[in-house]
Amino acid sequence: MREKFDVVIAGGAVVGSAAAYFLAQETGFGGRVLVLEQDLSFRDCATARSLASIRHQFSTPENVRLSMFGTTFLRSAAGVLAVDGEAPPDVAFREPGYLFLAREAGCAVLQANHAVQRAEGADVALLTPPELATRFPWLRHDDLAAGSLGLSGEGWLDAHALMNALRCKAVALGAEVRRAKVADVVVTHGRVAGVVLADGQRIDCGWLINAAGTGATALARQAGIALPVQARKRCVYHFTSPAKAPGCPLVIDPTGLYFRPEGDGFLCGIAPLEHEDPESDDFDVPLEAFEQQLWPMLAHRVPGFEAARLKSAWAGHYDVNLLDHNVILGPHPSLPNLLFANGFSGHGVQQAPAIGRALSEWVTYGADRTLDLHALGWARVIERRPLRELNVV
Ligand SMILES: Cc1cc2nc3c(=O)[nH]c(=O)nc-3n(C[C@H](O)[C@H](O)[C@H](O)COP(=O)(O)OP(=O)(O)OC[C@H]3O[C@@H](n4cnc5c(N)ncnc54)[C@H](O)[C@@H]3O)c2cc1C
Repeated sequence: MREKFDVVIAGGAVVGSAAAYFLAQETGFGGRVLVLEQDLSFRDCATARSLASIRHQFSTPENVRLSMFGTTFLRSAAGVLAVDGEAPPDVAFREPGYLFLAREAGCAVLQANHAVQRAEGADVALLTPPELATRFPWLRHDDLAAGSLGLSGEGWLDAHALMNALRCKAVALGAEVRRAKVADVVVTHGRVAGVVLADGQRIDCGWLINAAGTGATALARQAGIALPVQARKRCVYHFTSPAKAPGCPLVIDPTGLYFRPEGDGFLCGIAPLEHEDPESDDFDVPLEAFEQQLWPMLAHRVPGFEAARLKSAWAGHYDVNLLDHNVILGPHPSLPNLLFANGFSGHGVQQAPAIGRALSEWVTYGADRTLDLHALGWARVIERRPLRELNVV
């Protein structure tokens, strides 16, 4: 007889694991959950290659809300994700903040974003150049007009530890996780009936959740749906510097350069220009970019970084939503029992707890009910009404 689960989740990294956890702990649900993950080493997934940082400084209220719940969840992770009274490995959440810097030309956008964030309750402050100089004496500020600093709730974590803790807790609560690739989606009478695995086995399901990251587009295609999500390579460079930067938050320079502390060094990177950002599935890192592009920017913003030394680098892939750089969340109107959580475009680790909870609410109650996230659904994609996020890093 064919196996049947109430919910099958395709993809078991941070988003799939969060969905499994929230479903497994939802008292109103009580069904069987199966997570299918093609690579349980998680070596190449975005979660494992992420910068693993969290901010409330977005331009879209929905994104602010999603990350604010992320912060609340991370602060309580040791307790809620404990198994048999034993805390999981530390998710290492630290809150040194994000610091968005602006020159004169960027000031109006910084202020408009600040108003959105404050209206959502984010603990952020606008700083003048003298205030920046007092707080961060190592930062060059003479070409800046303002900075926006997260005073609490923003920072970074260990994304791998979070993903593992969510998965282990979901399993402890009854969810199943198997190594398998979803090769096909079976659709009958306008509903997903089940999935076919790469070895030919069929599994029936009441709901299918697409949490396949950059694999989500292929999965959607198998169900006859065109998901506007593409894999785009992002590189992260790890450097050390004899000069220190005490209290350094995650700094976003007006050039697009970002850097933050990591261990005894720093991580940095920059998003490529739109026309230099093709669809990509390779992991090659252009090491010369550190010397040629990043180092001059680093040394300009922090003169002490003049002596920065590259230690290592890695590449990973954003699942970029080509319409508006925001997650596509919830069911497609043509397949009401296929739930999407794709196109995070660089902010999926921090949003995973809130998205996992929203997916569990969809399955249990037919809608996301704690946060109003309808603006992130398929309607805007179908009607080509972008919900554009201005603060994309
Ligand atoms: C360099 C870099 C820096 C980033 N920095 C940040 C950051 O600072 N903060 C932040 O919030 N986010 C950041 N992100 C984005 C974040 O990592 C992703 O948005 C998030 O990890 C997406 O999680 P996911 O579970 O949806 O996808 P993934 O982590 O990509 O996982 C998808 C999983 O699905 C599996 N899969 C795919 N297809 C199938 C199939 N057919 N069958 C079974 N399994 C399948 C894959 O093996 C994979 O394990 C960054 C990403 C990169 C690359």
